[in-house]
Amino acid sequence: MTAENQNPYNATVIGREEINPQLLIMRVRPDNDLFEFKPGQFGVLGLLGSAQRIPEASVEEPVSEPEKMIRRAYSIASSSVERRYVEFYLTLVTSGQLTPRLFALEHGSRVFLGPKASGLFTLDRVAPEKAVVLIATGTGLAPYLSMLRTMLVNDSRRKYVVLHGARYSWDLGYRGELESLARVRPNFTYIPTITRPDHDPHFQGYSGRLQKLLEQGLVEIESGLPLDPKLADVFLCGNPEMVKAVKAILEDKGFSAGQGKEPGDIHVEEYW
Ligand SMILES: Cc1cc2nc3c(=O)[nH]c(=O)nc-3n(C[C@H](O)[C@H](O)[C@H](O)COP(=O)(O)OP(=O)(O)OC[C@H]3O[C@@H](n4cnc5c(N)ncnc54)[C@H](O)[C@@H]3O)c2cc1C
Repeated sequence: MTAENQNPYNATVIGREEINPQLLIMRVRPDNDLFEFKPGQFGVLGLLGSAQRIPEASVEEPVSEPEKMIRRAYSIASSSVERRYVEFYLTLVTSGQLTPRLFALEHGSRVFLGPKASGLFTLDRVAPEKAVVLIATGTGLAPYLSMLRTMLVNDSRRKYVVLHGARYSWDLGYRGELESLARVRPNFTYIPTITRPDHDPHFQGYSGRLQKLLEQGLVEIESGLPLDPKLADVFLCGNPEMVKAVKAILEDKGFSAGQGKEPGDIHVEEYW
């Protein structure tokens, strides 16, 4: 038996806020010092196959081995200045291996937190004079929260735009925080959008797929920022279909994803 099997968990759930039954904000405190990370990077969460799944989950096929640690990557939503815990923004995949187990965790539950953060989806490779347009579906918002929570407080020069898409307005997690931030920070524009307005008639904002809204000039209209690769870098995070469609639109406007180590002005993080 390995050391990990004897004592597989190294962190504790210290915060759990359900946005709705499919969306969860979870704070995890490591037993030891938290790893250093850059806003935009991801960490790893894990639970043993023997961990309980929520009853709403669909049947697991094949059933996970009880002794096996199920690990998945999750973008960090908290500020890198916050050293007590890391925050994650999670969506439930009902047929999934890990998320139905993560959703069953309560305040005080134990969990595995990987020992380091990884990923190049950061602002490191963006020229300081350029604006950033941060586009996400669903929980793809998480890395941007870390960027805004870490950088925006000290940065009144760079222009930040968040374009967030979800199905319904009640799936727009962190909306209150981002609306407040946009009110107090003139260099930040927040554009929440939904795709199912027929079932959400009270939502006052924009509706439609992000790619369609982008083609209609929503970013320019709402923020005054021209979508021009000389002026801005664009970040895309979440659903791979959205990433592909928006990337094609941006490439038509002269943006490029770069090659190998050569940074471009499109930055991509696909969740599956
Ligand atoms: C770099 C990186 C960062 C990530 N960050 C986040 C994050 O911040 N929040 C988050 O919720 N997920 C995030 N993910 C996805 C996460 O790693 C898992 O894939 C997801 O939680 C499903 O795990 P599971 O074991 O429940 O499902 P699995 O049993 O692994 O089933 C995987 C299938 O679930 C579907 N799926 C995976 N992710 C999603 C999703 N977000 N929405 C809808 N369907 C999905 C896909 O069809 C996929 O093939 C990230 C992935 C990567 C690669």
